[in-house]
Amino acid sequence: MTRLFDLGTVPPLGELPETMQAVVVRPDREGEPRDAMLVEEVPLREIGPREVLVMVMAAGVNFNGVWAARGKPVSVMKMHPEEDFHIPGSDASGIVWKVGSAVKRWKPGDEVVLHCNQSCGECPPCNGEDPLACSSQRIWGYETSWGSFAQFCVVQSQQVLPRPRQLSWEASASYGLTYFTAYRMLLGRANMQPGDNVLVWGASGGLGVFAIQLCRITGANPIAVVSREDKADLCRELGATMIIDRREFDLSKGADESRRFGKRIRELTGGADPDIVFEHVGQETFPTSVLVARRFGKIVICGATTGFKLDFDVRYLWMRQKEILGSHFSNAFQADKANRLVMEGRIRPVLDEVFDFGDTALAHQRMADNQHKGKMAIRVQAAGSAVRPLDRAA
Ligand code: NAP
Repeated sequence: MTRLFDLGTVPPLGELPETMQAVVVRPDREGEPRDAMLVEEVPLREIGPREVLVMVMAAGVNFNGVWAARGKPVSVMKMHPEEDFHIPGSDASGIVWKVGSAVKRWKPGDEVVLHCNQSCGECPPCNGEDPLACSSQRIWGYETSWGSFAQFCVVQSQQVLPRPRQLSWEASASYGLTYFTAYRMLLGRANMQPGDNVLVWGASGGLGVFAIQLCRITGANPIAVVSREDKADLCRELGATMIIDRREFDLSKGADESRRFGKRIRELTGGADPDIVFEHVGQETFPTSVLVARRFGKIVICGATTGFKLDFDVRYLWMRQKEILGSHFSNAFQADKANRLVMEGRIRPVLDEVFDFGDTALAHQRMADNQHKGKMAIRVQAAGSAVRPLDRAA
């Protein structure tokens, strides 16, 4: 048995090494990604009957890697006490390398992408309501270890989806977590309709680039919020015509500034307030989101990059009968439907930068510092393969 495969090589199908390279976070070095994430050599994990071992060709960079590195607001080590280390990564493209004895849908050699929702698969919520309602629901590569920043990863077979073959490995790896989340937020939880005006915070970010595209293919009107001119250009390229530069507003000043922001929205829409506000920024934007949504409008939220404790004037909520909707990733059915739109070329990944495996920490630091736009991916066993122009954001 080979001890360790070289990065960037694809050995004969099914051949396994003793160990693998992985990006690892450990409890004693939690902090900014540049310090917390180190490449280590670790043993491979055995797979269970319903699990699949995937050789990772490329992995996608997500904000949950930043949270995992920081160990704040909660250390991921507490979420999987069975391991005292954490291999992050909730997006991957790769090749099925080995399947458990009960797996029927996939076989070694299949080229796949992965979604990151895990659940028990046996309880009533998993079998009728929604796997996100399962009491053991967890996000793979965040609430579990053995994520995608490694030469091999272990997933439940229901997490496996076909890979869009027209894309590079890197582009295939880049979109799942944020795109499938945006899909559930808008088309699931908020029931977006043609003609809806949708305020998209962070419109050039990982969630935002897909929110814009989903609005466009649904016939809704995205109002894209950005903080840099090149980010505005990216949103225009994706089809947004209404753009707001948030640097022109100081939303920390309170309701008057939020009202001025709302006035700008109405100038762009021809007088309409947003039917839906697409929220993930949290503390710094949430009071404005609640204020600017139209009467009976919806605020759909899946994250809180700037802080979890939300302080807003609830009168705008009840007097104008608005709704706040929590949303979390997606189920396998939604992920599959969304993935098919990528396979058909109707949604594009918006891959902006590709990094070598050794620069995984650097890529996460760029995200932590809000220096990136669109999506970033890491080459793992696909090292050396070119990024095709089709996948580039600009
Ligand atoms: P991202 O790629 O970093 O994009 C976030 C965007 O937010 C940035 O592009 C930035 O755009 C904007 N932003 C940052 N600070 C801001 C501020 N103070 N005010 C307004 N806008 C600000 O991250 P992402 O992948 O889109 O994820 C965003 C958040 O959602 C993260 O906290 C992540 O953990 C969470 N999330 C949750 C789920 C889930 O399933 N629950 C799934 C995906 C993501 P500008 O600077 O251009 O405005």
